Amino acid sequence: MNRNQATVEEAARFLREHNRFLVLSHISPDGDATGSALGVVLMLEQLGKEYVVVNEGETPLKFNFLPRFDRLRDLRKQPLAETFEAVIAVDCADESRMGDVRSLFASGAALLNIDHHPTNDDFGSVNLVRPEAAATAEILFDVAEQAGIAFNEELALCIYTGLLTDTGGFRYSNTTPRVMEIAARLLSYGVKPGEVAERCLEEITFAHVKVLRRALQTLELSHGSLVASIAVSVGDFSEANAQREDAGGLVNYCRNIEGVEVGVSFVEAEPGVVKVSMRARDRVDVSAIAKQLGGGGHAKASGCTVKGTIAEAKQKVWDVLEPALGVKHDE
Ligand code: 5GP
Ligand code: MN
Repeated sequence: MNRNQATVEEAARFLREHNRFLVLSHISPDGDATGSALGVVLMLEQLGKEYVVVNEGETPLKFNFLPRFDRLRDLRKQPLAETFEAVIAVDCADESRMGDVRSLFASGAALLNIDHHPTNDDFGSVNLVRPEAAATAEILFDVAEQAGIAFNEELALCIYTGLLTDTGGFRYSNTTPRVMEIAARLLSYGVKPGEVAERCLEEITFAHVKVLRRALQTLELSHGSLVASIAVSVGDFSEANAQREDAGGLVNYCRNIEGVEVGVSFVEAEPGVVKVSMRARDRVDVSAIAKQLGGGGHAKASGCTVKGTIAEAKQKVWDVLEPALGVKHDE
């Protein structure tokens, strides 16, 4: 992979060099995507810059405790006529993750790509991609320091939210001493860890529980009990009166089962379109599986979108997963 990487200094210079920015994260944004995008926004405000922060699709309301949440535009509902010469993309594993927001780029626009996915293909004109970072927010912390930004509670909250959510509450193997050091610094600016954890990790919607109840009935072990999978259909969503974001986290019920190496969830976002989420323990790098199916992510957490029915999506995933796992479906 091309690793002609920018330095933190170059990223900080990018912020100083331009005056008006388009800031974006990825489709179906999570806590790191949203915390990082709003963290960039707060940095630009401090530098006296103008910005528009846009995503294709809605940002989950669970993140509405973050500063400037009300500035996030959903391009599907609030189209924009303007195009932008300077773009900052955060937490986007590849170009396609930016979705239709790409239609707002002026031709030849300068694009700062800040990300931590090992599958990132360096789609920016300036690429600050660090796969060793636990979260994009961790990289942003360094950029903010380099740019001489004054940390305050609001900025600290954005960065902390990215760290907390992408480490699963400081539990995953990406929780390094450095993550904890940065988190400790952020707490010193007034972030209330109990409140952030409550909003991001503990609180669930009733619709989520209703989707979960239906999904658990589909849970099955396969491949010699090394794989656990779960499925949610469009019918499940309508009967639970749930939104897509209400299906978040289902894949963990699969991966967490004792002895399971790979957990997979198949979520039918719309008829004929299945969002696949994969979580691995040790044996398989699921980012490689997802990449073969047009997606990407991390070794232990990845995703992709597959066309077809849930049954067809399953078959496509098994076809790629089986050689990596070394076990066939009915063994
Ligand atoms: P999730 O399963 O929670 O949606 O995503 C897990 C990880 O895989 C995240 O790091 C996410 O960014 C990445 N990911 C999920 N879906 C896709 C996709 O369609 N393409 C790429 N490149 N990465 C994805
Ligand atoms: Mn991330």
